Amino acid sequence: MFPVFLLYYSLLAGTIGALYKKKRRKSYKIVGFKHGVEVLRIGNILESYGITIKKQLPLVDACLCEVEPSVAKLQQLSEDPMIEYIEDDYIATIQALPYTVAAIPKGQEIPWGVKKVAAQPVWKTCRGEGIRVGVVDTGIDLDHPDLKENIKEAYGVLDCKNIIDDNGHGTHVAGTIAALDNDIGVVGVAPKVEIYSVKAFDKHGRGTVSSIVEALNWCLEKKVHVINMSFGIRHNSFTLRRAVQALLRNNIVLVAAAGNVGRENSVLYPAKYPEVIAVAACNQNDRPASFSSSGPEVDITAPGVDILSTHKNGTYKLMSGTSMATPHVAGAAALLLSLTNMNADDVKSILKNAAKDLGLPKEKQGAGLLNVLNAVSNIKKLGRGDCEQI
Ligand code: CA
Repeated sequence: MFPVFLLYYSLLAGTIGALYKKKRRKSYKIVGFKHGVEVLRIGNILESYGITIKKQLPLVDACLCEVEPSVAKLQQLSEDPMIEYIEDDYIATIQALPYTVAAIPKGQEIPWGVKKVAAQPVWKTCRGEGIRVGVVDTGIDLDHPDLKENIKEAYGVLDCKNIIDDNGHGTHVAGTIAALDNDIGVVGVAPKVEIYSVKAFDKHGRGTVSSIVEALNWCLEKKVHVINMSFGIRHNSFTLRRAVQALLRNNIVLVAAAGNVGRENSVLYPAKYPEVIAVAACNQNDRPASFSSSGPEVDITAPGVDILSTHKNGTYKLMSGTSMATPHVAGAAALLLSLTNMNADDVKSILKNAAKDLGLPKEKQGAGLLNVLNAVSNIKKLGRGDCEQI
């Protein structure tokens, strides 16, 4: 028989444990300062409210803070003249459909998406040489034989600074941008571009705004020219907006997935921000993918259904999502930049002007389907770059 005093004891211990746990439970908030406020002063202010700084986010004049849920002083803090905003550390998710199909290419295949965007005809002139592309994602398989030579540096912002792609998504995205032109696997849109991998998403494809901002800051330090963001958030984050504005001021081309919500007016952030090129997805028949988010913020369409690319552990897989459409555009931007110097706004307008109208509403296709050959030819018409051979 179970002794009664032990039953009482275990119930009491459970109750105390639950209370203790409740008291100890912390939450995280991002506190954004007004421009020009010194971080030291902010540290002192936050301390006076009993708030601990977990991480500085210098790119956006903000910090990630650990707060007790019971701290009613947050409201008081938000009224401090040095504070611009306080918001949750929202969760972003990668924009790929959950199913994947394993594939073994015979020799080297050019994926249908790379053919569809007419990247191949420009390779005799430019392949992305000297252009640095940041991939903020789940990491990249650094030993993948079809990517290895193009990965210049890798970094991680999650716990333990892990840089390994334990999901496969980041490796797939990187392959569409930059898989090598050799005799195996696939080829990316810009097969000689330099990839800077930063892991900000876990094996489930989830990442916080604070991790993303830290990753973007690393990309800025590495002086990348283009950043691929195959992820999205439903919430408008002041922090993420500040980050993309800071990057655009540094003339970095920002490309993001429109999202896989599949409804009208459902473009996710950061694609929804005007500083970013928002990419919708289409299938092989130039039809919009059923999952692709639409809305007035869509800039351009690219292939995003059954896309063959590199995957973790040296493999290849078919994946679908606006996550897969986005790297076609990032690769195209890199090709343009490898031909001639231009600012990020020029890249966006040249890509949009060169897009092929699919006869769909603007909310679904943006300017139309990405066309690299047209974009490069348009630079030639502008008398810029060394494109005479095209
Ligand atoms: Ca290859």
